[in-house]
Amino acid sequence: MTTIEQLSALSQILAQGNLHSLFQPIVSLSERRILGYEALTRGPSNSPLHSPIPLFAVARQSGRLSELELACRESACRRFSELQLPGKLFLNISPESLLEASHQPGRTLQLLKTYGIAPSQVVIELTEQAPIDDFSLLHTALHHYRAMGFSIALDDLGAGYSSLRLWSELRPDYVKIDRHFIDGIHQDAVKREFVGSILQMAKASRAQVIAEGIELPEELAVLAEMGVDLLQGYLLGRPQEQPAHEAQQLLPLLEARPGALQDEGCDLSALLNQQPAVHAEQTIGEVLAAFRAQANLNSMAVLDEQQQPIGIVHRHSLTDALLKPFATDLLARKPISRLMSDDFLAVELEQSLQQVSRLLTSRARQRIEEDFIITHKGIYHGLGRVIDVLKLITELKIQQARHANPLTLLPGNVPIQQCLSRVLQQEREALICYVDIDNFKPFNDIYGYAKGDEVLLCLAHCLSERVDPTCDFVGHIGGDDFLLVLSSKDWRKRLHQLQEDFQGQCRRFYRPEHLQAGCFSATNRQGQRQEFGLLTLSIGVVHLHPQACAQLDASQLAELASQAKHHAKGVPGYSLHIVDTLLANNQSPNSAARAS
Ligand code: C2E
Ligand code: MG
Ligand code: MG
Repeated sequence: MTTIEQLSALSQILAQGNLHSLFQPIVSLSERRILGYEALTRGPSNSPLHSPIPLFAVARQSGRLSELELACRESACRRFSELQLPGKLFLNISPESLLEASHQPGRTLQLLKTYGIAPSQVVIELTEQAPIDDFSLLHTALHHYRAMGFSIALDDLGAGYSSLRLWSELRPDYVKIDRHFIDGIHQDAVKREFVGSILQMAKASRAQVIAEGIELPEELAVLAEMGVDLLQGYLLGRPQEQPAHEAQQLLPLLEARPGALQDEGCDLSALLNQQPAVHAEQTIGEVLAAFRAQANLNSMAVLDEQQQPIGIVHRHSLTDALLKPFATDLLARKPISRLMSDDFLAVELEQSLQQVSRLLTSRARQRIEEDFIITHKGIYHGLGRVIDVLKLITELKIQQARHANPLTLLPGNVPIQQCLSRVLQQEREALICYVDIDNFKPFNDIYGYAKGDEVLLCLAHCLSERVDPTCDFVGHIGGDDFLLVLSSKDWRKRLHQLQEDFQGQCRRFYRPEHLQAGCFSATNRQGQRQEFGLLTLSIGVVHLHPQACAQLDASQLAELASQAKHHAKGVPGYSLHIVDTLLANNQSPNSAARAS
């Protein structure tokens, strides 16, 4: 397509104003509601400029960007208002358009007024489209929009040239993590590290994190586990002309989470206070009476007809509202929905303590005396107290530290036993992998214990990187013995990658002559010099099937894994020895063992 044809297609679109706005929901996991929608523009379906990328590129080249931006914004606001979409409207804006002579200041506010949208509902998404020397342009854009009462999101974090600098200079209210970091995050420890760091920086700068481009339930499970609360992607909803209004329609997917194997305090039953709730149409007078009658009531959930939470009333805010002169008389007969807050945290009963703690700390405004709501399948179940979460988390941390291996800080034998018992109790299919380093003892003799410790730390790191944190477990039995419990379907691939990672990482520990020779020599137990191969792994695997769980206890399972490891050690170099519990039931485990 020639440039002339492109320009004519653009002119036609602008003249006829036939742009379409699609809306993609952004969902809050903890609040089980739609935070808002991102407006995404499309040209006419038969036009070569249907997709926004070429559409905006042509407009940029021909100096008609601000004209196009304005047309997109007008379409987005009109449709948002016509569809009566709840929550916030996220608008993409190219900062350069502010510089064009045709830019008309004040038009956006006018548009919002026409369509009855409050500026506080609008979030402006800024992206860096090219390497920028001129930070002042984005600053100008930011001040321009903040002054109008809009919130600011930094879009595509990690994709641009200077995202971190932009973040620190612009101090956005939201940061949207680029799709690249979300794609396959369940299989990529480096991506998880990135997202973890982004979450920490967000906490420090009081920005809320949105993960973009979630396509798979596994990606969602990892993000939820890490404490990312705001989610966007095809899995939850594609950009659509008429998107869903209710998060419940999108939410069943969120419950498909494989069970965690780490001891995260199981579910939230220990936190549950079964306090009464009120319905939205009940009067402020009735709520006041309930608070008077129960001195230890901090908060009350407000429910809709389906018993789902839609708001919360805190004792302190009710008191503040009623302190005004004559307020009690004026308000007593009004519905509680007038005074409730819709900024609340609701968590599902089966979420883990760790998740709730992360969600609480990621909230911008969370007061310690404000309770959160606990639901079961979306229905109100009771309230939880922030102080109880802190207490339980502290206890759990102390317990974990007491049972951790002092070198690697991985869970030691007590949590390993607990994990095996849990797997048997849950009657689930799992791979119990006993991992041992070949030639570790002679390596220690030649290189010394300090280097030996470095090797153990290196293996601990490789193990933690190769597992799926939402469903797998890593423990350190002691010395060079580690135990993995894998539930991931791609376990074989993970074990082979583990071996490759470990061998690669270990190269930095050897002296050049040993590396070159591919072996090192040391004195063996009989006092003679002997040559040993470089460090590799022997892994004994027990393939546990649900049918076999009732016949085994945790110690027998650990013993089977240890036997499998002994078989693996009999083979020089990297080896994997698999014992299948289904076959082992009929015959002795050893004879049923399949080496691979
Ligand atoms: P963006 O703002 O980063 O928007 C997200 C893009 O990712 C959208 O592409 C969306 O359809 C896509 N997406 C969302 N979820 C998923 C997912 O799970 N998987 C995959 N593979 N993709 C997903 P789209 O609509 O083609 O827009 C592309 C870009 O065009 C946007 O990137 C934005 O920078 C720009 N754009 C779109 N509409 C406008 C607009 O009205 N004004 C301005 N200035 N830019 C716009
Ligand atoms: Mg965007
Ligand atoms: Mg984006």
